[in-house]
Amino acid sequence: MLDKTSIQSSHNHKNCMQHALQAAEKVCKNKGVRLTSIRKRILELICTSHKAMGAYGLLDLYKQEDPKAKPVTIYRALDFLMDVGLVHKIESLNAFIGCLQSEKQHQTAIFICDNCKNAYEIDASSVYENLFTLSQSLQFKPQKLTIELRGLCVNCRY
Ligand SMILES: [Zn+2]
Ligand SMILES: [Zn+2]
Ligand SMILES: [Zn+2]
Repeated sequence: MLDKTSIQSSHNHKNCMQHALQAAEKVCKNKGVRLTSIRKRILELICTSHKAMGAYGLLDLYKQEDPKAKPVTIYRALDFLMDVGLVHKIESLNAFIGCLQSEKQHQTAIFICDNCKNAYEIDASSVYENLFTLSQSLQFKPQKLTIELRGLCVNCRY
């Protein structure tokens, strides 16, 4: 779970990264899927910071290690990482962040800072539940729910 200190710019990001990667190994093992070296490397690149990363930004970085990499290489890895729940897509930015609680069942709300582009997720299961109950009352069949809040983070506000 995200705590307030991990949003501070001074926090030790190594811990976030290590946690995300360790959880990724566990999640893949439990699901019986393979975290290949490409998939793992893309996840590492996404988790390098809390900034949302676009596919082409990732491609540029990855190309420094594998100059033959193509967009499809990145998209395939991203599809896998999203399916397994190791990465979340930020629809409004068409970009991605690493999940820091992939080992837990959760439903995500993403807070995006428009200034530094850092994006943080929290488990918003209760909000989802409320919205699904409302859809039921409208006899509406929900397929997809995205919760993204844009604004300024604590580091950029003051
Ligand atoms: Zn961090
Ligand atoms: Zn998550
Ligand atoms: Zn910010």
